[in-house]
Amino acid sequence: NTPLAQLDPEVHDALRAELHRQQSTLEMIASENFAPTAVMEAQGSVATNKYAEGYPGRRYYGGCEHVDVTERLAIERVKSLFGAGFANVQPHSGAQANTAVFFALLQPGDTVLGLDLAHGGHLTHGMRINYSGKMLNVVPYHVSEADNLVDMDEVQRLSKEHRPKMIIAGWSAYPRQLDFAAFRRIADEVGALLMVDMAHFAGLVAAGLHPNPVPHAHVTTTTTHKTLGGPRGGVILTNEADLAKKINSAVFPGMQGGPLEHVIAAKAVSFKVAASPEFAERQARTLAGARILADRLTRADAAAAGVKVLTGGTDVHLVLVDLRDSQLDGRQAEDLLHDIGITVNRNAVPFDPRPPMVTSGLRIGTPALATRGFTEEDFAEVADVIALALRPAPDTGALRARTRALAARHPLYPHLSEAADLSQ
Ligand code: PLP
Repeated sequence: NTPLAQLDPEVHDALRAELHRQQSTLEMIASENFAPTAVMEAQGSVATNKYAEGYPGRRYYGGCEHVDVTERLAIERVKSLFGAGFANVQPHSGAQANTAVFFALLQPGDTVLGLDLAHGGHLTHGMRINYSGKMLNVVPYHVSEADNLVDMDEVQRLSKEHRPKMIIAGWSAYPRQLDFAAFRRIADEVGALLMVDMAHFAGLVAAGLHPNPVPHAHVTTTTTHKTLGGPRGGVILTNEADLAKKINSAVFPGMQGGPLEHVIAAKAVSFKVAASPEFAERQARTLAGARILADRLTRADAAAAGVKVLTGGTDVHLVLVDLRDSQLDGRQAEDLLHDIGITVNRNAVPFDPRPPMVTSGLRIGTPALATRGFTEEDFAEVADVIALALRPAPDTGALRARTRALAARHPLYPHLSEAADLSQ
């Protein structure tokens, strides 16, 4: 029982440095969040030691009576959070959840429609060198060049032309809400299954601030660590009793062995948190922060620097910044913001002339800062700092001081690091 600091100082020191990085900079990667300490406590618990192949009450190992309790809690809580009749909480990640759905409901070579990665889709929605693109016949749909919104006419046209087995609705980089009812109408017209991947916006759904896809989709997948703010992991939901059995057997024994019961316990805790009024209030600040950022980046000084906001605003927790007319490319802008203490990721914009390693855009999200307690006033200050940073010849020293002051105003995990020096 030697403490980590003594047993493995190299790992210990790197993790301390990571804690300090999270505390002293502004985390604006749209897919990230800060898990509550109780979630990390459950994830760091003795459940990490337990083998529990199977499902609660039907395990292939003895001694599962306590992890049955935590897994049942996770299942019941996530069902009630999203109004689903069935949940599988065992996928190790969002990608695993999507893979399990494909294995459960499709055959190799089947045709599926998914949003093009370059237009905001996810790797697992059919990218060429992802297993989804290799295993399935993927027909990508797109946003329209005129307004950067998903082109539902194209979805309908491609569906009629290719008769897919499944239509995937969901995104990793898209600042608006999808019309789930319209997707379902098209799916029904051509006899396809509708899968919604709500990984990014599940927290907003849980808070009632975004339409819930579960009543529309045959199957819905999500991650638990983005807006939902829990441990890293995946979940599959459905209201179709005949699909539930296939999904369970695709996850285990189809794809996975032992479930991560420590993560499942942490998922249970995060679903309890997600049902609370405090969580809903935090999601409201997440949305307000993203809108403030979008408003600030559409003002005249940003426009004069060639900075644009895709679709002119946002309805979710992120803003997509279009730098095609700016002197910065995506990589330069990401590096510049990193230099002043703001972490974001460069992101291709639709019809991007630059390669994926460079890009012409930024994806900037507000979930982590909202969790940290940022108010609308704080978000206005963050937005101002970003707008100034993206103009020619920014005063990086002054901007770095402003981000440090913001970080110091909202201490993160203070009990984990009494000694954290926010002035570094
Ligand atoms: N689905 C969507 C829409 C995502 O954005 C992501 C992650 O970015 C995933 C699935 C995959 O999640 P994970 O990284 O947990 O595999």
